[in-house]
Amino acid sequence: MKTLTAEEKKILLDAIRDIPDFPKPGILFKDITTLLNNPQAFNLLMDHLTERYRDANLDFVAGIESRGFIFGAALAAKLGIGFVPIRKKGKLPSTTIAEKYALEYGVDEVEIHVDAFLNKEGARVLLIDDLIATGGTAEAAIKLIQAAKGECVEACFLMHLTFLDGIDKIKKLAPVYALLEVA
Ligand code: AMP
Repeated sequence: MKTLTAEEKKILLDAIRDIPDFPKPGILFKDITTLLNNPQAFNLLMDHLTERYRDANLDFVAGIESRGFIFGAALAAKLGIGFVPIRKKGKLPSTTIAEKYALEYGVDEVEIHVDAFLNKEGARVLLIDDLIATGGTAEAAIKLIQAAKGECVEACFLMHLTFLDGIDKIKKLAPVYALLEVA
């Protein structure tokens, strides 16, 4: 499957802004709002993802709240398939399945609607989020996809924090595609 050229990676990396000490001291926050507001970079990203997954025979794209919603919903629309939100606890209105996880900065819980994949057993699902750090959020999300009777065909992240081992954790559960390595 297609990956990015060094030049394309640079366009994306240059469009992402670093915010030191957010949301707490010691965290270098990777701000993608500047990428979303940069049509060249955002289109490059969405065109690349569309090309990569066009022939992957996906049934759904599942995005993790909240930045995974932006990329995931845009990609699902481009692929002509449904989008499924994986949300923080208490936000989804119908019957849910929940999974707890440890975040780089805190503890949280995510949920999916039990009928998110329209009761299609073995639905082929792409998981997407902006960034993988410890991998705790993505691990919980993959467990939710499986609990809702989907198959996580790939877990896709715009960025991968190289000083944490999140990717290795997730590789045990599903194939992983991380576009950019950041520190
Ligand atoms: P983790 O569960 O540790 O892999 O954390 C991943 C989640 O936290 C993703 O939804 C990211 O959006 C967010 N996150 C963690 N660290 C950062 C960071 N340095 N910059 C931006 N977002 C982050």
